[in-house]
Amino acid sequence: MLKAYQPTWMRINNEFVQNYTLVIGDDTGRIVAVGPTETVMAQYPGIVTEKWPNMALVPGTVNTHSHSFQHLLRGLGVDQPFLVWREQALYRVTPHLHTQALYLGAKLAFSEMVLQGITTVVDFFYLHDHGIDNDLAIIQAAQEVGIRLVLARTFYDWEGAPESYRETPEEAVARTETLAARYRNNPMVSIHPAPHSVHGASDAMIEAAVTLARDLNTPYHMHIAEERFEIEEQRAKNGLSPVEHLAQLEALDSSLIAVHLTWATAQDAALLGQASANLAYCPSSNMFLADGVTPLRMLRTAGVEVALGSDGGCSNNRASVYEEMRMAALVQKVDSLDATVLTHQDVWKMGTEQGARMLRLDAGTLEENRLADFVGIDLTHLSLLPWSQETLLANIVYSMSPAAVQNVVVAGRVIVKGGELQTQDTAALFQNIQQLREQWM
Ligand SMILES: [Zn+2]
Repeated sequence: MLKAYQPTWMRINNEFVQNYTLVIGDDTGRIVAVGPTETVMAQYPGIVTEKWPNMALVPGTVNTHSHSFQHLLRGLGVDQPFLVWREQALYRVTPHLHTQALYLGAKLAFSEMVLQGITTVVDFFYLHDHGIDNDLAIIQAAQEVGIRLVLARTFYDWEGAPESYRETPEEAVARTETLAARYRNNPMVSIHPAPHSVHGASDAMIEAAVTLARDLNTPYHMHIAEERFEIEEQRAKNGLSPVEHLAQLEALDSSLIAVHLTWATAQDAALLGQASANLAYCPSSNMFLADGVTPLRMLRTAGVEVALGSDGGCSNNRASVYEEMRMAALVQKVDSLDATVLTHQDVWKMGTEQGARMLRLDAGTLEENRLADFVGIDLTHLSLLPWSQETLLANIVYSMSPAAVQNVVVAGRVIVKGGELQTQDTAALFQNIQQLREQWM
């Protein structure tokens, strides 16, 4: 069935326009038509129409890096250096994280995300516990909440990590292949290989993941040069930076979605740019963990495409791409002492169309045949006032409160309406999550 949306304003071709109508197909979950209301309604007379008065209809945001289970650890390990944080938050609680807990954590993370206008999320997931049951629980949570999921199934074999993270390359490949085959034709779920990092995955593991991504024709995700210790460890091993080491493994290409790159050098930027690699930039997390400031200007100038990620709920501790747009712009400005280094238009594109492009999803802009993933923003919300056609985008990026997000539609399905989650009982979720925390104490 077709359905038309008529908001007061719509974000089309890099500007806000009025008197536009968006038509979606319920069955395909895609945009069927978008254009001036008179033209569109003449083409589709009498179709069901929903008016969104005093609202701006914009593409949904794309969260290119997160770890859903870390929402359960929110508040733990705060104000600590990375390695202490990893010990106190991640490794200490990991033994408690069985399938049901992971499922609830994902429900919490994804629910919070859609309420803040995220329509696609990458869950970089590594708590496999020797199988795929946990992966399936994450996928189920995403489907029940209604968010579009990229499961970046992590390849992890470093012996210092909790046992439930670890697999052999053969196991990781076989299990990822099984999931990929199962969801091949599901537009709501994509499976991508994700070698954890040069410190979390052996060369054999990295090579297995990259080879599998090439076989499956998907991107692959990897934490790279997040923390100084990784640079020092790699240099001590073979005198190379993590990026140079990956170049030697022939792991750099346009399918790479590198996460963080906080400590990237000029040589690293050149290698990544030549490979047309991508970056999932997580500014809040980098600040929270005192990792450093990613040299974004250098990477972008070298040709690296950039999108945004919230990272985990215990290293941010928020879960909003609008928040990351603001943080990216602010930290890059203060780091470079240049207010023009990253504009609100730049970060908007990173949080929408560039994220979708690197995940190879037809999302991020409102165009015919693209996925029907969009958000309705309340233009009367005080945090946006005053605005004009020219300043509205800047206000969404720099001043908007999450409470201004009123409606969220993913694949044509209404997930949030009037600021309320339609797919989940949030009161029950509250009970379950708090009970789970009490069990650990
Ligand atoms: Zn991460």
